[in-house]
Amino acid sequence: MSEQVITDRLLRSWLRCKRRAWLDRHGEPAQRLWSAHRALALSDQLASFQSLLPQKPGRGEAACAAAAPGVVGLRLHGQGPGGLAVQAHPALLERVAGPSVWGDHAYRPVLGRQGRHLTREHRLLLTLWGRLLAERQQAPVPQALVLAGGGRGLERQRLPLGSGLQRQLDEALERLAGDLRRPEPPPLVADRKKCVLCGWRGLCDQEASRLGHLSEVSGIGGRRRDLLLEQGISNLSDLAASDPAVLAEALAVHGEQHREVAAELVAQARVQAAARPERRAARPVPALPELARAPGVLLYDIESDPDARDDFLHGFVVVPRLPSADPLEAWPRRADPSWRYQPLLALQEHGEARLWLRLRRFLARYPGWPLLHYGETEAIALLRLARRQGAEDGEIEALRARLLDVHARLRRSWRLPVSSYGLKAVASWLGFRWSQAGVDGARCLLWWRQWRRDGGTARLRRIFTYNRDDNLATWAVVCWLLDQEA
Ligand code: SF4
Repeated sequence: MSEQVITDRLLRSWLRCKRRAWLDRHGEPAQRLWSAHRALALSDQLASFQSLLPQKPGRGEAACAAAAPGVVGLRLHGQGPGGLAVQAHPALLERVAGPSVWGDHAYRPVLGRQGRHLTREHRLLLTLWGRLLAERQQAPVPQALVLAGGGRGLERQRLPLGSGLQRQLDEALERLAGDLRRPEPPPLVADRKKCVLCGWRGLCDQEASRLGHLSEVSGIGGRRRDLLLEQGISNLSDLAASDPAVLAEALAVHGEQHREVAAELVAQARVQAAARPERRAARPVPALPELARAPGVLLYDIESDPDARDDFLHGFVVVPRLPSADPLEAWPRRADPSWRYQPLLALQEHGEARLWLRLRRFLARYPGWPLLHYGETEAIALLRLARRQGAEDGEIEALRARLLDVHARLRRSWRLPVSSYGLKAVASWLGFRWSQAGVDGARCLLWWRQWRRDGGTARLRRIFTYNRDDNLATWAVVCWLLDQEA
């Protein structure tokens, strides 16, 4: 493809992050990581399309001429502002009343929306598709269609492609072309939360760490970074060298919450700059005192499909206590292959009552064993489930007392030299390795959806392995906390 052509994919990348579009064009393809998020988005979109048009769509120009109700695979060409060559490949075209070059019917572009709201990215992409389609079919495209969900829950939203959007598109295309002509990539995006969805994250993580980018400091998002830049603090070393009291006063003009976190940000930056963990309390107390007497613990991790609000797997690892009276000697520091792993699959068609029954039965086999989980998700989900299933107050309180959030206990006691306190970052810093390289929650969710659609025991096994590993990663954090008390 000519270096000059602007594609709809480049436009989508650019609307997410300017650097991403630049890397898409000029970056080394081998440095791009595969991301399950794209595959998940495409499978969601496919489900919406199948609900809209149950029959298989036709392909390309021939299908348009044959008046197929839906068409894929039509490549469109045209010119943008200043004679820019533009290409697009709409996800789906839906037949509407004509006339057009193909007869007494025409088409409009359709897109499957991810997330709850229509974004600028959706609008401008559809505007581009509509514009190029209008040229090809020699008939106007006054509106596009946006879908979300699938089956009986399919949402349809019409988007008028008016002159305001056309102007915004021209402006975006011009700026995109300008950014692609830069000799160097644009800077890292301010809010690096977006980077988890991007194939260039490996490359950009290295760059962020080389620069001491402020987003590398745990607790700093796009807004706080801007406030720190305004104060002349441009990287991690600057922040580590700041006076917390002076910074607190300077940030307080933007809101009390910023004053309150200033000291914490400086302390966190210092720990990261020194690459050494630091205890929070001058007089340390055990992070997990409940383990002193526990007969054993259950490690607990849930896998979820957040869009479907479906906690599809409740996985447990059973860790028995060793026969030692010394609480620090009582817990094995290495995962033992003989530990039982118990996955409880929650199939929606089986109903929640059945899941609750199985969970209760399983937990009743280990009375008084704490449930160790990382982050608040498991506690929230299990207690809500118990309440929905009519558990008595006493049972809910007993359950609540058994649930111990290792993440919260870690944060209460320690600052670590990590840019995130998520399980992946913390356990990796401790040297824990997941047995399936490169797998994350999105990949696991993709396997789940594929298993639901096509079955396959290998996929299910991979999901269980991932869930078991997350439990063992939690155990690695627990062991580290216990070792600090020795
Ligand atoms: S990883 Fe982040 S900064 Fe890098 S290109 Fe992707 S979105 Fe932009």
